[in-house]
Amino acid sequence: MNSLDCQEALAHLQDYLKRELTPELVSEVKTHLARCRDCSGYACFEQSFLQLLERRADKESCPEEVRARIVAALRAAARDS
Ligand SMILES: [Zn+2]
Repeated sequence: MNSLDCQEALAHLQDYLKRELTPELVSEVKTHLARCRDCSGYACFEQSFLQLLERRADKESCPEEVRARIVAALRAAARDS
């Protein structure tokens, strides 16, 4: 089985988080995230962002530090617009 590189993993990340990938791709993305700290950190950030938008913070999977960064980024974005 070919494993994804970072570019491919990130290209699938949004669909992965929205559960719109095929089971095969889901497991390939999961495999990559388990091995790659950069991508897993990014996935964690994106997932928290989606959860914040959907107000599902109860399913917390990221450290408080990551959440704090997202909240700061959201506030900054709100200020800029
Ligand atoms: Zn990667």
